[in-house]
Amino acid sequence: MPFEVLTMGRVGVDVYPLQTGVGLAEVTSFGKYLGGSPTNVAVAAARYGRTSAVITKTGADPFGDFVRTALDGYGVDTRFVGTSDIAPTPVTFCEIFPPDDFPLYFYRLPKAPDLDIHPEKLDLAAVRDARIFWVTGTGLSEEPSRTATLAALEHRAKAGTTVFDLDWRPMFWKSTAGGDPAGARAYYAKALRHTTVAVGNLDECEVATGEREPYAAAKALLAAGVELAVVKQGPKGVLAMDREGSAVEVPPVPVEVVNGLGAGDAFGGALCHGLLSGWDTRRTVSFANAAGALVAGRLASSEAMPTEAEVAAALRETADDSR
Ligand code: ADP
Repeated sequence: MPFEVLTMGRVGVDVYPLQTGVGLAEVTSFGKYLGGSPTNVAVAAARYGRTSAVITKTGADPFGDFVRTALDGYGVDTRFVGTSDIAPTPVTFCEIFPPDDFPLYFYRLPKAPDLDIHPEKLDLAAVRDARIFWVTGTGLSEEPSRTATLAALEHRAKAGTTVFDLDWRPMFWKSTAGGDPAGARAYYAKALRHTTVAVGNLDECEVATGEREPYAAAKALLAAGVELAVVKQGPKGVLAMDREGSAVEVPPVPVEVVNGLGAGDAFGGALCHGLLSGWDTRRTVSFANAAGALVAGRLASSEAMPTEAEVAAALRETADDSR
């Protein structure tokens, strides 16, 4: 059976402080969580009962074992999780300064195992047959992952839904483009040609298209070849625009923010669920918007992904409050 959601890219261990409002220099205890954006998206989709898997690689180390065990626990298939000996499994620290400052510290040097994905090792039939295939901008940052990601997209040729999470992390582009968006844009354009749904925040849209005004960015993504452009605006909500030019704007679901990290991945998993359910754009984006808000109100990312009932309850509460 084809997977409903197949993602490709980053994996790691999130080591998040258990104290908020203090810098890493002062933190005394941490929690350990499965992490990596496309990995979290697969976890979020599994929470809604979707069959999911992630194409990635860990290091040959105990954190790699943790990744597999955690994925198993969340119901995400691990058959495409390989092992690379180029480096240990990455860890990611963050600082938590609510409501809007969550610096991330990635330990992925000299190169992360999840960028050591080779095109000739891909299961192209699984890529082609998945109902949703999800790739990220980070997957384009270095070889051989870049060629593998583009080869997968090309092979899929827009079969089903193909999502490109623009996911711009300049620190991963140092060796390729010196961290300069201009050096990354050509690769983004190549990926967009094989994309049906583009998702990104304003910074990411600007890297991909040169535009950072939400409507202009959405139009530029559509012009680049996608069918649905989704512009995330953090605490300002979401804009989605389709090929016919119809736009849906969804205001944020109010939340007391604990840790804004992971909201985008919760949004992504929920977006997949809505698309697979055949919901219209407004319902899909509203659901994803509420899922993002719920995770912004929680410490962890993967572990915090909501169920459909929780998202539905948050949507009901917001509707009641606005009456
Ligand atoms: P990313 O982390 O990928 O930049 P965002 O921060 O834009 O993603 O968050 C993704 C989505 O989660 C937002 O578009 C919004 O729907 C929801 N969200 C994030 N932060 C908040 C917040 N503070 N309040 C309400 N909703 C939020």
